[in-house]
Amino acid sequence: MINVTRSSMPDFGEYCEEIKELWDSHWLTNMGSKHKQLQAELEAFLGVPHIALYTNGHLALEGIWESLNLPRGGEVITTPFTFCSTVHAFVRKGLTPVFCDIDPDTYCMDAGKIEALITDKTVAICPVHVYGNICDVERIQKVADKHHLKVIYDAAHAFAVKYKGVSSALFGDLAMFSFHATKVFNTIEGGAVCFREDELVTKFNDLKNFGIHGPESTLYIGGNAKMNEFQAAMGICNLRHLDREIAKRKTVVERYKQNLAGVPGIRFCKPQKDVTPNYAYLPVVFDGYKKTRDEIFEELKQNGIIARKYFFPLVNDMECYKDFPTSGSEKTPVAKHVADRVLTLPMYADLSAEDVDRICKIILE
Ligand SMILES: *Cc1c(COP(=O)(O)O)cnc(C)c1O
Repeated sequence: MINVTRSSMPDFGEYCEEIKELWDSHWLTNMGSKHKQLQAELEAFLGVPHIALYTNGHLALEGIWESLNLPRGGEVITTPFTFCSTVHAFVRKGLTPVFCDIDPDTYCMDAGKIEALITDKTVAICPVHVYGNICDVERIQKVADKHHLKVIYDAAHAFAVKYKGVSSALFGDLAMFSFHATKVFNTIEGGAVCFREDELVTKFNDLKNFGIHGPESTLYIGGNAKMNEFQAAMGICNLRHLDREIAKRKTVVERYKQNLAGVPGIRFCKPQKDVTPNYAYLPVVFDGYKKTRDEIFEELKQNGIIARKYFFPLVNDMECYKDFPTSGSEKTPVAKHVADRVLTLPMYADLSAEDVDRICKIILE
């Protein structure tokens, strides 16, 4: 069986070596030495002044919305073509989603369609770098500046991606990464928020630790979302091998393209200008192909190959959003078109050329 993804892991011995000192210190969580080390390594790797580490990416996103303290009922312009966590995070903090359609080439939010959705209730824009494709960050920032809106990037797919040499961590007001087991870089579960300002990072770190600011001072009604030492140790190991992992992923993507590029009715994402990619996913759109996306999905499954309809259904079609006035994918026709036709194919660093060829053969035949 071939699954859609397989987690990157260091050698067993390397991880054991990394966690050994935890048996000496008996310090398992609460911003211990591994947590601090990974934080510093990630700040250096990403070239960001500050990051805060979380138990997972979703709680990092919730932490952002909680700390911004935007007026309840405020509207956030976002995309339906994403993992539901993007939208759940701010709805759980009392904000309302307004769904913007997507760009037909990058599948990210269509920056040209944002302004028409702005009302006197709009408080923020929450775009997603889908599959690691970088949003039209310049145009989105222009719209945000003009209307005094916050821009929060869900960069869960875009770890290690750069645009014009700048890390995806540095666009908008704040950016969030997920280090879930299925992402390009993992800490088993985990996530981060990236900052440019000192002041904010202290508040975020307090909020993820019950709002405790010091031994006798609790400033906020915070929650608990700290990354523990075992997660951080996994991250320290995985970060050592990240360049090699991404290079291997590139080879896999190239193999897929050798087999499938140019086949009528099969479409890949175009490489983006000025973007250093991370090869996180392999989305293929079956548009006018001899078989439908669903037929291909079933045929692969019969052969023990698990692809994913990612993202289908769209968030604005999910049951839990049906009572929101902005729900319904008929309002986002481009996203609907893509969601009905896209399949992400198995994609991970150690996927062999033979397996890629076998997957492509099934698709072609
Ligand atoms: C994975 C993911 C999340 C959630 O991150 P977790 O670490 O799994 O909590 C949020 N948004 C997007 C787009 C994701 O892919």
